[in-house]
Amino acid sequence: DDLGVDSESEEATSALLPKDAHAAIKTRFPPEPNGYLHLGHAKAVSFNFAVARMFHGSCNMRMDDTNPTKEDEEYVESILEDVKWIQSGLFEDETPWEGDVRKTSSYFDTIYECAEALIKSGDAYVDSLSADEMREYRGTLTSPGKNSPFRERSVEENLELFRKMKEGEFKEGEHVLRAKIDMASPNINMRDPTLYRIKHESHQETGDKWCIYPMYDYSHPISDALEGITHSLCTLEFEDHRPFYEWTVEKLLPTSLISATPRQIEFSRLNIQNTVLSKRKLIGLVEEKHVNGWDDPRMPTLSGMRRRGVPPSALRLFCERVGISKTDSNIAFSALEDCARLEMDEACERAFAVLKPLKVTIDNWDGGIEEFSAPRHPKKEKMGDRVIPFSKEVYIERTDFFDLDGPEGKENDGKVPKGYKRLLPGDKVRLRYAYVIECKEIIRDPKTSEPIELKCFYYPDTRAGVTPEGMKRVKGIIHWVEASTGVQCKVNQYDRLFLAEEPGKRTGNHLDDLNPNSLEVLNGVFVEPSVAKDALEMIEKVNADSNDGSLYTSSLAYQFERSGYFALDKSSTGEDGLVFNRVVTLRDTWGV
Ligand code: ATP
Ligand code: MG
Ligand code: MG
Repeated sequence: DDLGVDSESEEATSALLPKDAHAAIKTRFPPEPNGYLHLGHAKAVSFNFAVARMFHGSCNMRMDDTNPTKEDEEYVESILEDVKWIQSGLFEDETPWEGDVRKTSSYFDTIYECAEALIKSGDAYVDSLSADEMREYRGTLTSPGKNSPFRERSVEENLELFRKMKEGEFKEGEHVLRAKIDMASPNINMRDPTLYRIKHESHQETGDKWCIYPMYDYSHPISDALEGITHSLCTLEFEDHRPFYEWTVEKLLPTSLISATPRQIEFSRLNIQNTVLSKRKLIGLVEEKHVNGWDDPRMPTLSGMRRRGVPPSALRLFCERVGISKTDSNIAFSALEDCARLEMDEACERAFAVLKPLKVTIDNWDGGIEEFSAPRHPKKEKMGDRVIPFSKEVYIERTDFFDLDGPEGKENDGKVPKGYKRLLPGDKVRLRYAYVIECKEIIRDPKTSEPIELKCFYYPDTRAGVTPEGMKRVKGIIHWVEASTGVQCKVNQYDRLFLAEEPGKRTGNHLDDLNPNSLEVLNGVFVEPSVAKDALEMIEKVNADSNDGSLYTSSLAYQFERSGYFALDKSSTGEDGLVFNRVVTLRDTWGV
């Protein structure tokens, strides 16, 4: 179907079935702690954990921390939070993974011993070419590489040099350890790939113990084997690396340093239109301040999604719909929004919020506050009712009044827009759950002529949906908020972060496609009092148990009727009042 879920996903899944039907499936999610997780990682998380669950196996959580240069403890923490969050609700004990968090760095001793074993079996050597020379010797896609002059060093010499590399006797770049495979292989990854390089850098876990660090392609199969991983799932760009993965396992099995045979299986990367899914680009957006941090709700990071208010169940549904295949997909952002709508329609209470208010004064109202009650959810009686106060002054959306006699009307040749059913000068509209009102007079801003207040009449016998005899049925029904009890708040409305479906395709620089209007801040929004009451309770609850990971307490989100789904922004709601983030509009309006 249109999400790219195709028959190939079945093929990919059947490749996952164990050769030995009794073998327990074991997968792992192995992020490198060098950035925050994004929606692409959500797919990898879902896939790895789903496969494990499906076959009654288990999934390990592993930090693939082999490169101290770009890694940081901050990332480790955010990754664990995100993986828990995206699976929240699925596990009772809150740790979806098997056992403790693993770290590739904790295998550094074994990985080093494996390298010595490879040297001893004549399968690895110390090369002393410069980086430029190595590149030159590697050859190209169409021409074979050639052997390094250092390729035939004796085992003794290699061992001695490698040990000295480890002892810190050389400068960075002076030597590397390489596998001895085949410089003429048509697969460039098999042309004596590097196993270890010198880096005089401390590591967040191992401190200054090491000044040589293993390469990803070499350490990964060893880590997988040590953990007894049966299915090492990774993205398609590693397909050409698989022969080296298998080479490493095959060479090391006889040493008894490892005893399992993991298999690498590739699946397609997730790409989403109008955004970027690459840590490098995301880091750039944060560092160059195009967004307000990693958890900016416009970011495709999991922390951004969480702060925006997207329920984790919506992300899981999205990953399920995208499916697993061997073909790269480019999914529309609206596919993700559809999932958010579906989940939020089910879960969220309804409330009135007036985003761009216009004041209405009901001149013939002489009572105080009257209370109406309305369902919290139209399809879920169990959720109960909310109380909405009504009185002499209410706010309506400015867009629910068409200023026929003013600038707006002039622009439209004095005509009412086709299909417009809301309030017009001299005409009627129904305030949902309350009364029909009629607009009698427009008070204008003396400078701009923009309406700033409508003087209206209400019809007492139209209470709560009644149309009295003799009155034409009023077609337009709009939402409203009573002025004296309504609570003022701030709303952030987000749009696509990039205007182009494939950011950077046009000019080569994704920043050229940034959407300058991806954030609209509305400061004078009014919400009905029940919302403020719920929000305050929520904030108190979050503050009370701030240690328990407030992240996992459900977020507070509403459908603001006729506008969209909005979630309380817990991090900026505070002394200056309530802040809501728009998660998604009610309908897909992008490009309309
Ligand atoms: P990036 O390319 O954004 O820097 P990465 O692949 O370097 O990401 P890792 O931390 O190494 O990030 O990824 C952890 C796991 O998530 C890997 O198994 C990787 O294949 C998977 N993954 C990363 N990006 C995607 C994506 N867009 N779609 C599916 N899986 C992904
Ligand atoms: Mg990586
Ligand atoms: Mg990468």
